[in-house]
Amino acid sequence: MNVLHIGIDDTDSPDGMCTTFLASQIINRLNEKGIELLDYPRLIRLNPFARFKTRGNGGVSFKIENNDNADLAKEIVLMEVEKLSMFDCDNTNPGVVFYNGEITDEMRDYAFRAIYEFITIDEAEKFGKKMGCEIHKFKKGRGIIGSIAAISLPLSDYTFELLAYRAPENYGTERQIDYDSVYEMDKETFPDTFENIDYKENYIAIEPKTPCPVLYGIRSNSVEALKTAKEIVKVGEPIVDSCIFKTNQHTDMHIQKTPDIASMKQFGCYEVIGEVKNKPKVIEGGHMFFHIKDESGEIECGAYEPTKGFRNTVSYLRPGDVIRVFGGIGEQNTFNIEKFQVLKLNDVEYQNPVCECGKRMTSAGKNKGFKCKKCGRKIESSEKVPIIIKRNLKNAQFYETPVSARRHLSKPLCRM
Ligand code: ATP
Repeated sequence: MNVLHIGIDDTDSPDGMCTTFLASQIINRLNEKGIELLDYPRLIRLNPFARFKTRGNGGVSFKIENNDNADLAKEIVLMEVEKLSMFDCDNTNPGVVFYNGEITDEMRDYAFRAIYEFITIDEAEKFGKKMGCEIHKFKKGRGIIGSIAAISLPLSDYTFELLAYRAPENYGTERQIDYDSVYEMDKETFPDTFENIDYKENYIAIEPKTPCPVLYGIRSNSVEALKTAKEIVKVGEPIVDSCIFKTNQHTDMHIQKTPDIASMKQFGCYEVIGEVKNKPKVIEGGHMFFHIKDESGEIECGAYEPTKGFRNTVSYLRPGDVIRVFGGIGEQNTFNIEKFQVLKLNDVEYQNPVCECGKRMTSAGKNKGFKCKKCGRKIESSEKVPIIIKRNLKNAQFYETPVSARRHLSKPLCRM
């Protein structure tokens, strides 16, 4: 079939709108004209460190048959983007891209670059033109970077998100969601749906905290579970529309494998193995830091205050533990931990020997062995003895940041 791919990005601002809502409006207009989508629309999360993102750096794409209706479809898309984008915001620079044909390897590579690296508007425009894309830039048109990527990214792993939208008169007001019903929904549908609630923080994660048109968003491995979830969640305000997107959220697609610590670069997200070098320490503000090392070098790892109870888990690490860490290197050149797996716990601690009388001995001075304060016995050897200590962490186990601090792309343990 001759396919027309449509990509849209950068239409929203912190004050309003959401590219998914705009897409769902477009889809409604297309449906009214008898134009149906091939497959679900896609919500593609890109580089979490991209500078100009509003929130989660997401672009949208969908595809239709490229037939006599294609020109009408393009007209509708451009009209709606023109009508609904938040043009007043300096940082809103919409981009729309149409592409007719097969997705090539070069396009797939570009999409992964948009997740791993930074791409300039110029670069995206040149690339798009080379691929034969029809490019529409509004204002600076930065959105074309994400639009091309949203069209091109292959989804070997994917999840779904159901987004329910509010009536415009309710934008910016407190959302009327019955929290008890969200707890019930989670009980009924987890782990087919996930990231609904952070139980420790009593945080309802399906509810956005911004004045955007989204009333709630439920994430899931299956469309069926989303339909069940929607039935259970009760709200006290109208839902004017809803739309299910196929996404790369919670797939770990942003995580690159790296041979060693020294090969990792700032603003990259990685999975790396290292040995804990020092005991994790908390600094002012509640952020927790420690270093991991391998033969190539070392890097500071951070569990920041918003990761709440996760810092407690991190605090159980001790020097000599070998861990596999997943995360990204941010502004401060610190490796922000999203999750870690214990590969080998260092459960040996060297202590002073215990005297025959049962009392732990004390040092008798440098290289002078040990003495017992209770019975006076002395031993000449100054060597401490290894003892096995009890650890609060388990070998092979994964530990993750809580739902409330999770990145859109981070794969939760319930999906691993
Ligand atoms: P929301 O999640 O609410 O939709 P957002 O966080 O996705 O908002 P956008 O308004 O889409 O924010 O802005 C992100 C901008 O960054 C877009 O213009 C997009 O094209 C661009 N962008 C995406 N990936 C990259 C990248 N790898 N390098 C440079 N720019 C990028």
